[in-house]
Amino acid sequence: AAQPVSGGRKVLLAAPRGYCAGVDRAVIAVEKALEHYGAPVYVRKQIVHNLHVVSTLEAKGAIFVEENEEVPEGALVVFSAHGVSPAVIQSAEDRGLRTIDATCPLVTKVHKEAVRFARDDFDILLIGHEGHEEVEGTAGEAPEHIQIVNGPEDVDKVTVRDPDKVIWLSQTTLSVDETMLTVNLLKERIPTLQDPPSDDICYATSNRQAAIKKISPSSDLVIVVGSANSSNSVRLVEVALEYGAKASYRVDFANEVDETWFEGVSTIGVTSGASVPENLVHDVLRLLADYGYGDVEEVVTAEEDIIFSLPKEIRATLKAMG
Ligand code: SF4
Repeated sequence: AAQPVSGGRKVLLAAPRGYCAGVDRAVIAVEKALEHYGAPVYVRKQIVHNLHVVSTLEAKGAIFVEENEEVPEGALVVFSAHGVSPAVIQSAEDRGLRTIDATCPLVTKVHKEAVRFARDDFDILLIGHEGHEEVEGTAGEAPEHIQIVNGPEDVDKVTVRDPDKVIWLSQTTLSVDETMLTVNLLKERIPTLQDPPSDDICYATSNRQAAIKKISPSSDLVIVVGSANSSNSVRLVEVALEYGAKASYRVDFANEVDETWFEGVSTIGVTSGASVPENLVHDVLRLLADYGYGDVEEVVTAEEDIIFSLPKEIRATLKAMG
């Protein structure tokens, strides 16, 4: 016979959640580099925006730096999943660094769009968060053609030379809904604004948002596992609140979950950002079970089977070693 759930407490676990193909590839790239070339392996910026991933790789011998100038001449440096501008690639060359480029192929796709439309002398409106590494990298492809639009509040600041030659592109990890709002406002000002050839917000970002949209209306509380500088994780909290979760919090680790959040809560939604290893989600689920939320239902809104091949420098090494 079915056991009554004590107090009707349950967890709705979003799927997809956690690691995307680009993060998986970038983390494996650093691990393989450590295995095959030995420590230290330098990594420019956090390989992916997750504290646990970074500290685990640090323990294995990765050294995280902010800029190429901190890497000893001739050493090996991995570029993070968020991508780099041509100036960064040049500065690595100037220092004689050996490089492994772990830029996500879906970020590279946006770089190529920027290069192509800049070559055709378009004004490019890049919707994204100023200062985020991905936006710096993409904007660096064509600084003279690109204006960064942070969101709806920036729409009035945009100036274009020829309304018939304007296109918008975006960061890969934005809120789908907010981006469409920004685009619609831009189109009110510039009706001839052209859309990108394909979606720049990546499949992982949109799938994780779609999953949390499904769960949020029936959740009293949504817990998002992810780091503060992870754009897609922070967006998941916003989306959860927009779609009816009564409260939503982001945590890096289970020990940040505060028991006062459970007051009057019967259903808890759980998800994680694209840079979050599954063991951190399991830690949260274990903790929730301790508080009586042990009944977990996974709500699947999409299947993901995308895998990216490793960066070419790693593939070449693995091949050479047979
Ligand atoms: Fe690539 Fe999207 Fe993952 Fe970023 S979130 S690494 S763009 S797949």
